[in-house]
Amino acid sequence: MKKIASFNALNRQNTINNATSNVFDVIVIGGGITGAGILLDASSRGFNTLLLEKSDFASGTSSRSTKLIHGGLRYLKNFEFKIVRETGRERAILQKNAPHLVIPEKLLIPLTKKGTFKKWQLNWALRIYDILAKVKGEDKRKMLNKKATLLHEPIINSKDLIGAGTYAEYRTDDARLTLEIIKTALHFNGTAINYFKVIDINKQNNIYHLTCLDKTTQKQFEITSKSVVNATGPWVDNISQLDLEGSPKRICLSKGIHIVIKKEKLPINNSIYFEIEDGRLCFAIPRDKVVYVGTTDTAYNGKKDEPEINKGDVNYLLDALNKTFNKNLKKSDIKSCWSGLRPLIKKEGVATKELSRKDEISISESGMITIAGGKLTGYRLMAKKIVDLICRKHNIKKNCNTENIMINGSSFSDINELNNKISGQLTELEIKDYNANYLINNYGDQTLTILEIYKKNHFKHIAEAEAIFCLKNESLLNPLDFFLRRTGKIYFYPDNILNELEIVMPHFIQYLSINNQEAEQMKKEVKIYLENLTKFSE
Ligand code: FAD
Repeated sequence: MKKIASFNALNRQNTINNATSNVFDVIVIGGGITGAGILLDASSRGFNTLLLEKSDFASGTSSRSTKLIHGGLRYLKNFEFKIVRETGRERAILQKNAPHLVIPEKLLIPLTKKGTFKKWQLNWALRIYDILAKVKGEDKRKMLNKKATLLHEPIINSKDLIGAGTYAEYRTDDARLTLEIIKTALHFNGTAINYFKVIDINKQNNIYHLTCLDKTTQKQFEITSKSVVNATGPWVDNISQLDLEGSPKRICLSKGIHIVIKKEKLPINNSIYFEIEDGRLCFAIPRDKVVYVGTTDTAYNGKKDEPEINKGDVNYLLDALNKTFNKNLKKSDIKSCWSGLRPLIKKEGVATKELSRKDEISISESGMITIAGGKLTGYRLMAKKIVDLICRKHNIKKNCNTENIMINGSSFSDINELNNKISGQLTELEIKDYNANYLINNYGDQTLTILEIYKKNHFKHIAEAEAIFCLKNESLLNPLDFFLRRTGKIYFYPDNILNELEIVMPHFIQYLSINNQEAEQMKKEVKIYLENLTKFSE
């Protein structure tokens, strides 16, 4: 348990000092879901492992997805039965190990006269999916006629509607999942540092020397390791260039955006997976008082850190919504949005939409292992493949055990019991603006610690306790990361951010011992981010 203290923002420098005086067995570059999974697998097999992330954990694609733990339904279209079975199995493992982060979600697929799928085709596809993914009981597929579909979802455009199918998926919070996997690895003596950018790689006498820039102080450090894994998603080509100048570019990027709309403007009862005129499928997913909708799939060459969203992206989704539901949604109805990049393996003359989304592993001349592609759902198997490879390379026999490792925040026996307990405490404390679901889906049983902090300090707002908890336990260094990836509030509750910013800021100032100028700068970053949430380029 000692390593968990290294995620206290105040211990960051100690963690860096320890890292520089160590030769690691494995360094993982990239703190998205792929890197997090590798850190957990390698640490739990006894490897001395360090993960380095240039910005905040999950700040790349792993906080910008559709946030679904897919069962792999779409693979059925190409008869990839093995993948559907494997994905279904992985989904079940993840649900068992992180029940507060992997929440069952029924999806409704409307069928229309002009759509790609006939009713019998969807019926059979969902039936096969249920068998392969071992879906049980109430979660199994149901087919609905037109009348029943409209009873479920009255706002669906009824003109060409012929019915619908419902099936089981799971939703998650991708950034929290990534963070909790990293926190789990700390229990196995793993180490992880955010805002620590790898800027050079050298190999001498079989040891890698990585030059890193601490982005909080602009100081450089050298860190050494026997193996290096490049898990930097959209940035894998950049890291390959550091390892070997002139190495070929293998990745092309495809951008996917999501828009967030108030539920009162798009009052759907279920998550809906609907077909757009161009044949692509799109999700509309309710989350508390909003619905988020995505995604797009367009080739992208711009800046990778904050991929821009243009009016064309937004119009594409609004148009799809207005045609599917009887609505007249406009840009002014959008409350927030995000965009992410899929790193796809290039193929001459093939459009991004057609490129494979499977993970790909390669080994460079120096022996650096690179992994890119894949899905949130497959992170555990991807990590297993990488760590098996490291074991083979070093002739070490250590079996993967991540199937049996509970993810941080999941030490409870029954989620309904936990919900009752937390709801009871919220009532007792007269906290009305927070619900138990929000807290449990973010923090699992760590919610109890947050409520303790709230009580002990006689705070007026629970966000204060959340901020203190994250500063102490989640390597949180600024308020923007709190609103973006520790809580997701900037996307899902954007109207409350400015108010909450004033509430939590004194705790950042006190805990991190920052001066007024630094505090003002941090506040400005949040405000600018918030303003840009609904600005779209031409
Ligand atoms: P990333 O999350 O991008 O992580 C790479 C990290 O490397 C970044 O944090 C970056 O800052 C860091 N890095 C880069 N350079 C350096 C450096 N020099 N030093 C240190 N660190 C560095 N999958 C699902 O299962 N379900 C979904 O619903 C789903 N929806 C998606 C929707 C969209 C629009 C997109 C784009 C993808 C979606 N995916 C989904 C896929 C999934 O999100 C990705 O496969 C996954 O997040 C990739 O994670 P990663 O860790 O490989 O990359």
